[in-house]
Amino acid sequence: MAEADLIIRGAAVCLPGRSERTPVAVEGGKIVAVGEDVAAREVIDATGQVLLPGAIDAHVHYNEPGRTEWEGWATGSLASAAGGASCVFEMPLNAHPPTLDAESFALKRAAAEASSVVDFALWGGITPVNLDKLEELAGSGVIGFKAFMSSSGMDDFQRADAGTLREGMRRAAALGLPVAVHAEDEDMVAAAAKAAREAGRTTMRDYLDSRSIAAEVAAIRLACELAGETGCHLQVVHVSCGEGLDEILAAKQRGVDVTAETCPHYLAFNADDAVRIGAPAKCAPPLRGGPVREDLVARVCAGGVDTLGTDHSPCPPSMKDKADFFEVWGGIAGAQSFLPSLWAAGIEAEMLARLTASQVARRFGLGGRKGAIVPGMDADLVLLDPRRSQILRTEDLLARHAVSPYVGREFPVSVSAVWVRGAVAWSRAGGRGPARGRLVRPDLSHSAA
Ligand SMILES: [Zn+2]
Repeated sequence: MAEADLIIRGAAVCLPGRSERTPVAVEGGKIVAVGEDVAAREVIDATGQVLLPGAIDAHVHYNEPGRTEWEGWATGSLASAAGGASCVFEMPLNAHPPTLDAESFALKRAAAEASSVVDFALWGGITPVNLDKLEELAGSGVIGFKAFMSSSGMDDFQRADAGTLREGMRRAAALGLPVAVHAEDEDMVAAAAKAAREAGRTTMRDYLDSRSIAAEVAAIRLACELAGETGCHLQVVHVSCGEGLDEILAAKQRGVDVTAETCPHYLAFNADDAVRIGAPAKCAPPLRGGPVREDLVARVCAGGVDTLGTDHSPCPPSMKDKADFFEVWGGIAGAQSFLPSLWAAGIEAEMLARLTASQVARRFGLGGRKGAIVPGMDADLVLLDPRRSQILRTEDLLARHAVSPYVGREFPVSVSAVWVRGAVAWSRAGGRGPARGRLVRPDLSHSAA
């Protein structure tokens, strides 16, 4: 081989099915050799470090265009890169306009192409008003469709009632694209919130109590039934509890094509932490009790979920500054702590590579290109240094607003660098790199089924 662009030597490399200390060479944005010590223009000695496929975070909210004062592609994608992601899938609801047709898709794609430092795919929405637009969204290249079974918090992104969800799933199945659901039963959570507020109970604890595990499980059960009925590929996002995972497992055993995502914050924090931290730790479904969290950690470490995504969802600080916790924006800024917090939860490197990269790529039709350290694949890589612990400080935060429940947390690992198709997106030594993100479209022949 002629000289490669880059070779990384000395790292413990997470390869499909095994870990090995071996060199990895990159040329023209692709991985060109694994296990061959070729000549290269740039040589990195990564002795003592761990090289993983770059994380594919299938769940971020960057809010641009239209609400860039909440977060944007430049700041959000840089925070994601610093947390170990080389590719993100951005959710359809918080931008204005929301991603409900080809025109809004094009606006968001242009915003992302202008400033994303990582590769990106875009989710389209399923709402009662855009069922006839799913086909054009598929033509634009959406990675899948997102629906809310409870209120999304955005007036222009309506909840999908059961009829809308059924019809959306039917159409998505015909297009060969997955549907992701936010699964909480609207009637149950709305009634509990109303009762609490009418009684003047508006603390974080009251908010947590208003969104029950039963409400989550009920919605998961309905979504799985509809997916079975329509033949849709279903991804239940941000499952917060073992009961939810059990419901999904039971559906899988009935032959439903359903996968489960959970998020780092359900592994890092419990309900008492939420009360202590306050507004930066508000999310939905909410943080759960201590034993629920511990059970979830054990399940994830054993491979009991399919994917891990951050649900990075920031807002301006003013939207977190309310006495009534039902009025506080629900969303946790967690992009930058993605892999460090998962490492801190005790997930081993090979499992981490599966849950944040290879299984995400396979589920969403990117399996031939991304998600594994294999010659011919995109050189999307993340180098982690377990010899270097770090405490996340407010002044380190790269998102638009320096708010995160992880501030003050110590992580037993640092991200050294992230490459996107061979170009540095972010490095600890140099900050933002030259990488420029591109739209990633799913390969439908490989998708889901
Ligand atoms: Zn989300």
